[in-house]
Order: sequence, then C-alpha cells, then structure tokens
Amino acid sequence: MRLSQFHLATVKEVPADAEIASHRLMLRAGMIRKLAAGLYTWSPLGLRVMRKVEAVVREEMDRAGAIEILMPTIQPKELWEESGRWEKFGNQLLKIKDRKEQEFCYAPTAEEVVTDFARNELKSYKQLPVNFYQIQTKFRDEIRPRFGVMRAREFLMKDAYSFHLTQESLAETYEVMYQAYSRIFTRLGLKFRAVQADTGAIGGNASHEFQVLADSGEDAIAFSDGSDYAANIEKAEALAPSANRPAPTAAMQRVDTPRVRSVEDVMAHFGVTADRVLKTVLVRGKDGLVALCLRGDHEINEVKAGKLAELPDESVLASEEEILAATGTRPGFIGPVGLPDSIPVIVDRSAAALADFICGGNANDTHYTGANWERDARISRIEDIRKVVAGDPSPDGHGTLHIGRGIEVGHIFQLGAKYAEALNATVLDDQGKKQVMLMGCYGIGVSRIVAAAIEQRHDEAGIIWPEPMAPWRVAVCVINPKNSPEVNAAAESLYKELVARGIETVWDDRGLRPGAMFADMELIGIPHRVVVSERGLAAGTLEYRARDAADSSAITRDELFELLG
Ligand code: ATP
Ligand code: MG
Repeated sequence: MRLSQFHLATVKEVPADAEIASHRLMLRAGMIRKLAAGLYTWSPLGLRVMRKVEAVVREEMDRAGAIEILMPTIQPKELWEESGRWEKFGNQLLKIKDRKEQEFCYAPTAEEVVTDFARNELKSYKQLPVNFYQIQTKFRDEIRPRFGVMRAREFLMKDAYSFHLTQESLAETYEVMYQAYSRIFTRLGLKFRAVQADTGAIGGNASHEFQVLADSGEDAIAFSDGSDYAANIEKAEALAPSANRPAPTAAMQRVDTPRVRSVEDVMAHFGVTADRVLKTVLVRGKDGLVALCLRGDHEINEVKAGKLAELPDESVLASEEEILAATGTRPGFIGPVGLPDSIPVIVDRSAAALADFICGGNANDTHYTGANWERDARISRIEDIRKVVAGDPSPDGHGTLHIGRGIEVGHIFQLGAKYAEALNATVLDDQGKKQVMLMGCYGIGVSRIVAAAIEQRHDEAGIIWPEPMAPWRVAVCVINPKNSPEVNAAAESLYKELVARGIETVWDDRGLRPGAMFADMELIGIPHRVVVSERGLAAGTLEYRARDAADSSAITRDELFELLG
C-alpha cells in the first residue's frame, strides 16, 4: 500500500476521558473515531487490524470443525419470551419497534436465534454434534461504556453454538473449542490465560474465560504458583483455614467507641491488625435483612453472596434507615452479638475461625472486644463468601494464590439443556425417541482483542503490534525523495519486491519530514521499518529497525528479505 493513497489520520491530542493506553493509542493512531457513547467507526487502519484478528478466528474455528452461518442482528421479541429472557436480560437489551409496532431487540448474543435455527434444521441425532458460528455485530446497552472499543455498546463478536445428544459429546466439543481458543490467542501473539469462570444461574462447572493479561484489565484473576489452577476471582474458592477455631480466652467487654466506625478506625483505636476485627454487613435478602460477617481484611465476593439461598442474585446493601429500623443502631456499629433473631448470620469460613475478636456493639458508639462465636454470637451458617487474596492456599491443594489482572477476550460455556428445553429444540435418537439437545456456547470479543493487544504491547511512542495483527508487516520510509529520484526509485523497487514476495508492506510516500514519518510508523506499530536514503544507497545498505528494538542497523536488501522470511 502506498500511504499517499491510503487514509492515515494520526492525531496529537486525545480527549481526557481516554483513560487507558489502548483507548488513547487507538484514537491517536486514528484507528477508531467516536460517533456516540460506545459507538465507533473503524477507520481503514483500524479495520485492517480487526480483519486480521477476524481471519485468525475464522481459520481456527473452521479448522476445529465449526460451520459458519450469519444470523440477523435484529431479533423478534417472541423468541426471547420463549427463553424467558425478554425481561430477565435487563437494560442491556436494546428493544425496538417496527412500523407495525412489532417488538424486536438488537442482538446482544444469539442463543435464542441459533436454537430456533437448530430446532428447524436438525431432526436426527445423526446430524449431531454440530457447531454453528458467526462473526457478527452485537449491541449491549452497557451502563458504563468506556475504554473505547474495549467496553463498547456496539462491538464485533464471534459466537459459536454447538448441539449435542449427550453430555460426553458436549464435553468433547468444549475441549475442542478450548484448544481452538488457545491456538487463536497464541497465534495472535498474546499473553493469555484460560481461567475457570463462574457459571452464573445455570450452574455446572464447565466454563472458562480466556483472559489477556494486562494491569489495566477489569477482571481480577487468581492463579496458583504450585499448579495450573487459575480462576476468575468471582469463582475462586477460599478454603476454610486449616486450623480449628481456638477456644475463647478473653471475657467479652463492651467498649465506648464514639467515631470509631470503619475497620481502619477500629485498628487504630485498639492497636490491632485487621484480621482480629470482624466486620458485619447487612444486605437486603429475599425475606428481610441478612448479616454477612467477614474478617476485617477480607472483602465480600458478590457472586458468591448472590448464590446464597437467602439473597437475590445481585445483593444490595441495606440503607441506613433499614439498618436503624431493624437494629436500632447506625451503620458502623453492627455486629453479630445480640442481633435480632430474625436476621440470619452468615459467617465467612475465615471469620468463623476467629476467637476473641473485636466487633460492632450493636448499639451506637460501642464495640465489643473478646467476642467469641457460639458463646457470645450465633452463627446461622458458615459459607465461603469472600474474595480470595494473595497468599491464600490454592483451592486445588497445590501452592499459593497470586492475583493478577486480565481482559476477558473469550468465554466458553457448557449451557446444557437450558435453551433447547425452553425452545423445545429436539432431535430423534436412535430409538426414534425425541430428545432435547444439549448446547455449548463459545464467544470471542473480536473488536475487544484489538484493544487488549495494545494494552499488552505498547510503549511511549505507540503501539507494538504482534506481527499477525499488524496492519502491515513492513514500512518502507524514504528520506528526501523529492531531491533524489534515485532514492525514490530505490524505495519503489524495494516496495515492489516486498509486495511481490507476498510481504504486506506500506510505503510511506507522503513526503513528510523523517521525524514525522518515523513517529507515525512507530505510533501505528509497524513491526519492521526500513529506511532508504542517499547515504544508504551509496553504501549499498538499508537502515533497518524492529519496532521493539532500541537501535537500528545497516543491512543489505538480501539480508532484509532473509530476515522477513
Ligand atoms: P464482560 O464481563 O466483559 O461484560 P461478558 O461476560 O458480558 O463480558 P460474554 O457474554 O461472554 O461477555 O461475551 C463474549 C465476549 O464478547 C466476551 O468475552 C468479550 O470479549 C466480548 N464482549 C462482551 N461485552 C463486550 C463489550 N461491551 N465490548 C466489547 N466486547 C465485549
Ligand atoms: Mg457483559
């Protein structure tokens, strides 16, 4: 590509709301332009990169035996009512009406539509297993679209759905997809990790997320240093402490503690560490308030809490009024001692192992010291309700957990019969009997991958593309072409030779000053840069620099071709 005939539009200034590197760099490189919140136009440069990702995804899906289809982005309400998700999906679902007042939604995902397709197409077990996929635009009305295309409202997703007669067959395809995903992210040159993920309301144990490792990632992941255990922190189990709870040694005492409300206040006031403090959080249960007790140095895991029978899927903290009404005490002084019997006390495994702890006094401006379970405070149930922290033992019994951050770029899931049952998608088995099919679903955020790669690979000057994602592998830059027809001719001949060898090359023939030209090529992250100059021509060499190298070197044309393979 001759750059003079392309539309490259790098910019100097980016809006202050571009918080993370990939968002800033995509804007600066002119890969995307914002149309409205969470809606972006992909420029020719951005699109070249996204198409590269798409091609790798498509190749590996095809290789893994999945079959490509293309479903509409507009989906009828009736199908979503069959699955029960028209209401349940919530505000992320963009609902629209046509001229006849018929209701539709813009696809946030396609389980309903693909299950409808499958129930019409598939009649016999002999057609199974089958795995249909598409690469298609999705829309989710995210509460907080941000970080550019990383969390957009409209984005490009590869979504695949497999259909099976048996659980074994589903597990087999799931494994095939796991391997295909690993190949995709390896081929794209990304550092990633497959982690166990929460399966939400559907249950079961088979769900993995593929996380690109980056400090700016929105997801926390826990991984062991003694095994290959890795899980999203939402899912990672916090084991009960191995030692039994010590016997009480202290007498319980009520202490006046005006203005001592937070765990930090308690630590400062009593001169203790947070692991001696018990914190009690009152949340709205399905049936009145519920107390959750944790050690002062631990935090509630909302996903685990959402699974408690007493709580809705998404728990909400009780308001100050509710707390006052139920306990007569202001928030900050709540504790399990003397809490009304109507409030279940659910105690985290680690908190349940405490003895002689400090907790709220259940009366304004007071705390207890020397409090003990059973003797002073009742436990309704002991549960795992906290987030794991670095240093916790790995739940598989091997090693210690570390916490890192990741960007979810893929998600695979054994759905089981959920959608096929709701939509009555059946096939005849070998006995001629109708069987509800089992399903798996497998998503990849194609557009998010572009941002995730930049998040992982950039420097001061700009993007450092892994070669498989780069818009072009090689940039040919010319110094002063106008003053020297020979230099220009040499650059053109080099460019043509590279193209003839099937190497994707961009020739910067815009006639910019060297500084501006180099800055652009670095910003847009071209892996290999070759400079053609009068001086080099005289010496019979080119100046070569790899994007991730500190220095350039003089090499011959043949050496360049050899290097590029
Ligand atoms: P997240 O937790 O990030 O919201 P999700 O669990 O809702 O993701 P899935 O429903 O599993 O995502 O969708 C499949 C893939 O689509 C995700 O792994 C992610 O890569 C991508 N994706 C989801 N939401 C967005 C978004 N708002 N913008 C860009 N990509 C997205
Ligand atoms: Mg989401």
